[in-house]
Amino acid sequence: MPTAVAPSPVSPAAANPNSALEHGGLTDLAAALSELLLLHADARVDDPESHLSGIIDRDFLRRLMTALKHRSLATLRHSRRVAMLAAGLGERLGWEPQQLRVLEVAALLHDIGKIGVPDHILQKPGPLTPEERDLMALHKNVAAAVLQAGGVHAEVLKMVFGVQSSLEGTAVGGTSTQHLGARILTVADAYESQTSRRSYRDGRSHSEIMNELQRGVGTQFDANLVKALGRWIEEEGSPLSHGDDPTDDQLPTSAEDLFDAERLGRIFANLYTLESLYDGYYLIDANRKIVLWSSGLTDLLGYPAEERRDQIWTVDLLGCRDARGNRLLADECGILRALRDRQPQTSLLTLSTAADARVQVETQSLPLVPPDRRCRGVAEILRGRQRSDFKRSTEYQKLRQAATRDALTNVANRGELETQLQTMVREAQETPGTSLSLIFVDADFFKRINDHYGHAVGDQVLIDLARLLQTELYSGELVARYGGEEFVVLCPEALLEDAMRRAERLRTSLRQSSIGGVETLRVTASFGVATLEPGDTAELLLRRADNALYDAKNAGRDCVRSLSGEELSHREAEVAPEPVDNRLTFENSFQAYVGADMLIHKLGGFVNDLKATVVDVQPERVVLRQGSSTWLGSWGSRPERQPVEIELKFERDQPALGNQSKRMVIRTAVRPIGWVKRNELFQERAHKVFRELKEFFAAD
Ligand code: GH3
Ligand code: MG
Ligand code: MG
Repeated sequence: MPTAVAPSPVSPAAANPNSALEHGGLTDLAAALSELLLLHADARVDDPESHLSGIIDRDFLRRLMTALKHRSLATLRHSRRVAMLAAGLGERLGWEPQQLRVLEVAALLHDIGKIGVPDHILQKPGPLTPEERDLMALHKNVAAAVLQAGGVHAEVLKMVFGVQSSLEGTAVGGTSTQHLGARILTVADAYESQTSRRSYRDGRSHSEIMNELQRGVGTQFDANLVKALGRWIEEEGSPLSHGDDPTDDQLPTSAEDLFDAERLGRIFANLYTLESLYDGYYLIDANRKIVLWSSGLTDLLGYPAEERRDQIWTVDLLGCRDARGNRLLADECGILRALRDRQPQTSLLTLSTAADARVQVETQSLPLVPPDRRCRGVAEILRGRQRSDFKRSTEYQKLRQAATRDALTNVANRGELETQLQTMVREAQETPGTSLSLIFVDADFFKRINDHYGHAVGDQVLIDLARLLQTELYSGELVARYGGEEFVVLCPEALLEDAMRRAERLRTSLRQSSIGGVETLRVTASFGVATLEPGDTAELLLRRADNALYDAKNAGRDCVRSLSGEELSHREAEVAPEPVDNRLTFENSFQAYVGADMLIHKLGGFVNDLKATVVDVQPERVVLRQGSSTWLGSWGSRPERQPVEIELKFERDQPALGNQSKRMVIRTAVRPIGWVKRNELFQERAHKVFRELKEFFAAD
């Protein structure tokens, strides 16, 4: 399997200036990042009048608190109460007034990133699942970015970032290496959270909470701090017993405040999406100064923000090389080209890490050009190519679906499609004489685009494709991303002939457009169309369109096909389901010559390129999954709807004397997940997996 190599280190991501910026997802993101640069420029760090003792701009703090109130009054109240506890604790430890102020501000801001967390997680009534906690935890990265941009004191940042919320459940809050302020906040946060009632549990009493905190001493909480807090409250009573200011939620907020809160809210929400989709990012201003270095980037490359911020961007600062390892000239780097040409750029690079290793990354350089047309700077957004952490996991993907928009393309996501489709089907059936059609769209040979131009271009193609579908839309219609490179268009009031014509128009319009930002790239798609029939269900309608799409692919792609209920039942009758043993296994083995490090590398590539997920990793055994089942839990007609589990066992030969390359036997077992209609189908699928694996390992 060829590794994806961009044709040149840099390729323009848009055919005409700013076109990519017009696209939903990127426009919002670019606007939010551009505002972040403005925040940075506005932060009056040196002005003692407006500044709270060199800690934070007063007005900025007020705006943030208003935005938090607007988003979640409960979180604002919680933050205030934590600030009260933290300051009291600090005082008892003999902290200086200035230190206390820093602590108080950090407490007020410790949950500020939650402004960007989507409702289905933030407002979830029950306790969070581990995956949801991981997602929730991204709020800290968002906070770190906004506070960095706003020129907030570094100590505040350290404290905010260091808080180990009991919800996030990482057991390091009690270690002495952690910032003392963060340890105080951790204890105050845990105490306060337990006093208040949650929908799934009652508020606890002081002694219950103290017992709970005691249990976490040494792992989660600092013993001295827990003791000090206990003594304080037992001697003087709880400072929290005064309750909240009841006028809080009645305070009239001015229109400007509301508007500003919305604006800040959009910045937070976009940063949250950015955090959840990519591995890291940084911003430079028009003078190439790095003004923001994201926490994800620190995880990826190892350099902390303090070390990188305010430095002038150079090729060597990040050790930029092209995919083949050649040092790049500054002019060849996407970020500077984006700054100069004001066009988005994508590239495949390797960068050096603090530990002197090199990582391969895909980058998107997004020029930040507000309506006044002066380029304020560039955002460089990175995705590591070898990483297959939770952002790539199925749990994560499922969670993303809970929101209604697809983060990449900004059209409706699959969850939303299901909801809308059910509603439309019901409505159409309740009103005789109304029609509803559905078009299934799948980009042709999309994998090749990724392979040849890199995932960033692939992403851009998807964004452009979604955009194209949307511009062609009639009112009342809905475009949704079904998954990967598949989209669905719902056409109410459209008969089969109407929908066929619409699909045909979409098809020709696509093949005539330049998308993906690469001039020479031509993308086509195949279309499957079906229309609602009496007694139909949403699932059946979708299944017919999906089968029609399969016909279109078989007919050579770049065409439109349809399928009626009668045709489908004919077809399914022909292949009468034979009873299949669902413990089916396909087994085979092949030989490869790879060292241990290369093995991980190659598997990483396989997982990434073929959208597989890692289920289990042992030194001698790896289990992967690929594909996802249909709504009905059965296998669909195409590989991506035929989920399988792939087990790989590695048996290493003794290295031959004087021969560096090590021979290894890889025993492969493929098993179906879900119900398979025909054994033949499974065999075909398993063979394909096996072939792809072998190609990846360039095995014989
Ligand atoms: P066909 O004409 O038969 O549809 O071939 P294809 O290559 O389009 O289809 P296949 O299902 O083999 O490959 C789909 C590819 O889409 C595989 C996967 O890596 C890629 N893909 C899925 N989601 C994304 C995404 O969000 N971004 C990018 N860049 N690629 C994606
Ligand atoms: Mg495809
Ligand atoms: Mg596909």
